[in-house]
Amino acid sequence: MNKHSESDIVEDFQTDWISLGALLDAIRTQFDSITEICILHAPSCDNIREFIIMADTKDANCWTPVDVSPATQVVVDTGDGTSLRLPYDVVKIRNEGRGNAQSPLMTTVYTIKNVSHVEPLDIEAGLTLLQKKLNGICPICGAQTDSLEQHYIEQLACGEANFSA
Ligand SMILES: [Zn+2]
Repeated sequence: MNKHSESDIVEDFQTDWISLGALLDAIRTQFDSITEICILHAPSCDNIREFIIMADTKDANCWTPVDVSPATQVVVDTGDGTSLRLPYDVVKIRNEGRGNAQSPLMTTVYTIKNVSHVEPLDIEAGLTLLQKKLNGICPICGAQTDSLEQHYIEQLACGEANFSA
């Protein structure tokens, strides 16, 4: 007999994905001297195909892919009961803790306290920030936009706040 029981299927399903929050927690606890976690993504939910999660640590020499979870996909809560399930990669980078700039394509979701010039950001707040951007909402002024890129050009204060790190 080659029939899976219901519990086997549930188990398979669960190991194939991980929530973004759990993945970020795993990164934070597995890597030494982590200063920041930053995500590269498409500008909105409509065109996003994958996440590249960059962990800034002192022990990385360059762009180094790492395995953090056996799950092949990450689930991202996008609000209003909807979520995205996407492939992802985790890489270690060394950015000297200077603070990553935010952009329509990149969101810092975690920053420890002693990164210069940047306010600390916990994962929960970082996920809220990401959720807003994926829904086209400017995290600085709260405006709903069709294009965050265009919004940052037109609203200098928002653009500068995002790129000031
Ligand atoms: Zn704005």
